[in-house]
Amino acid sequence: ERVYGVSSWGGGYFKIGENGNIQVSPDPKNPNIRIDFKSVVDEIAQEGIQFPVVIRFHDILRSQVVGINECFNQVIADAKYKGKYNGVYPIKVNQTREVVEEIVDAGAPYDYGLEAGSKSELLAVLAYNTNANSLTILNGYKDEEFIRLSLLGRKLGRKVVVVIEKYSELHLLIRISKELNIEPIIGLRSKMTALGKGKWQGSSGDRAKFGLTIPEIINAAKLLEKEGMAHTLKLLHFHIGSQLTDIRAIKDAVNESARIYAELHKMGFALEYVDVGGGLGIDYDGSKSTNDSSRNYSLHEYVADVVYGMKEVCDLEGVPHPNLVTESGRAITAHHSCVVTEIVGEIKADGAMLDTSKTEGEHVLLKNMRELLEYWNDEQNLQEVYNDASEWKEKAVSAFKLRVVSLEELGKIETLYWQVMRRLQVFYRDVEFVPEGLQHLDFSLSSQYLCNFSIFQSAADTWAIDQLIPVVPIAGMHKKPDINCSIVDITCDSDGKIDQFIVDRQLQNIMPISSLEPGEKAHLGLFLTGAYQDVMGDMHNLFGRVNEVHIFSDDDDPEDFYIEEFVAGSSVQDVLTIMQYHPSAMAIDVKKQIDKEVANGQIPPREGVKWTDFYENCLKGYTYLKTS
Ligand code: PLP
Repeated sequence: ERVYGVSSWGGGYFKIGENGNIQVSPDPKNPNIRIDFKSVVDEIAQEGIQFPVVIRFHDILRSQVVGINECFNQVIADAKYKGKYNGVYPIKVNQTREVVEEIVDAGAPYDYGLEAGSKSELLAVLAYNTNANSLTILNGYKDEEFIRLSLLGRKLGRKVVVVIEKYSELHLLIRISKELNIEPIIGLRSKMTALGKGKWQGSSGDRAKFGLTIPEIINAAKLLEKEGMAHTLKLLHFHIGSQLTDIRAIKDAVNESARIYAELHKMGFALEYVDVGGGLGIDYDGSKSTNDSSRNYSLHEYVADVVYGMKEVCDLEGVPHPNLVTESGRAITAHHSCVVTEIVGEIKADGAMLDTSKTEGEHVLLKNMRELLEYWNDEQNLQEVYNDASEWKEKAVSAFKLRVVSLEELGKIETLYWQVMRRLQVFYRDVEFVPEGLQHLDFSLSSQYLCNFSIFQSAADTWAIDQLIPVVPIAGMHKKPDINCSIVDITCDSDGKIDQFIVDRQLQNIMPISSLEPGEKAHLGLFLTGAYQDVMGDMHNLFGRVNEVHIFSDDDDPEDFYIEEFVAGSSVQDVLTIMQYHPSAMAIDVKKQIDKEVANGQIPPREGVKWTDFYENCLKGYTYLKTS
């Protein structure tokens, strides 16, 4: 547990069970429900579902929705706050239909709504957020069609709020709503001075892409008044960035927005809602700190700071408490899904060894390296051993290029060099002080575990912006790790790797792990991938979408579960079609070529049929490696 810190980042949902396997508790209110993750993986394998697989725990999704709503309702009651909580889920964070449906269903008792940031998302939200009491918030840049769709929502009796992100959208909205004679509900997004910290801090400040400046907010309000539409201005919105790591940024932004809301109220604009956007962070590294991958606050603290922060300013200003809206996406979805990948190979610098016994007339560099290994003792200056070995290896490479050292000799020198490094590593394992020049030994000698997945599809942010996600074995964590590894994926790209891990609460480029027996199957989990990672993946190397299973806990047996649904990932023909190929025409072409070779007598007829079937089956098959 100390090594992998599962309980620290697990959010109450994941921990290491007594058997050393990851254990899932999807409902914090019912700690008796405990699912053994390894049993889930075994059942997936038994069902013949190929890895990699996205595993969704829908109960976790529901718990998160219930959690934020109940927390707000509780704090609002405790604070005697007069407004209500009207949260929305921004579907861009994970637009998967089943995710949105589950969130809408779990949120129904709380009138929890949805947010859309594009026309496609708006079309989905109009179809799925049918509760007349919940909000539909529309952010993002808008064209005429977008505005008309939002007004269709109003016609259907929904509380659709069009948030003005740039001033010109207001003219468009006024014109179209008058033309259609439909009353809009208008929100204004404020460009905030309160700055978030971390990877998404560009969302506020003067150079922010979205939002109105203070003069624009005042002009917008006055324009609406002039047009006889002041009463349609109902919401003030801000969003200062995702994954806010420091609670002070939230307090600051709530305070700033409360002041703007109060001043607008006093100017005669009776807004009803303040929307504090997203930003509620996830503790990916379990450090509870202001690291980019963490947050220094709890859900309760966040909620209390929003509620009490708003209340304090409103009471001082003598204005009503507005209803509070959040657009938390990451916090709702991150925990509910993870990617399980199979380890399919190991790449090791010292993976292959040659026989290095002495031979007649061998090169002096080879002789030196062997003697270094044979005659070295621990009393020696080991830094010198390291320096000599490194120098001779470098010289050997140069001598090889100059045709002085043979390929065989170079291979032997490398074999001996890695033996020297291994011995140094073993020596320094139990020594407190390791000289700086030797501190990389664990990394240089670590294995790269080749895993059956694409980082570009399944964990895009780890590649794009160095985001940290927890990566841990699914099982066997009761054994003491005996080797170190980093992770590489199966894409043809050297960037396709994960080399950031939290080990013993420290950020490291390798992860300790128990070595595998020959032929042993092992699975790794990439956790907290439910937010953004699930849907942002790209088609690099044409791997495409991953197989997906939806897991529910069994109501009758707290330790049991069932696979409620299997959603097949992309087939080869799916991804080729996206890239404008015509797989059925390709199959016919290849068959013709095979038939030609059959006619020429190059391929026996029976074999020709087999090759044709094989090609067609591969087109229909999964894009990832077939391991069984
Ligand atoms: N609302 C808006 C306007 C956003 O841009 C975002 C994402 O950055 C969100 C909500 C969701 O933020 P988070 O996932 O941090 O909750």
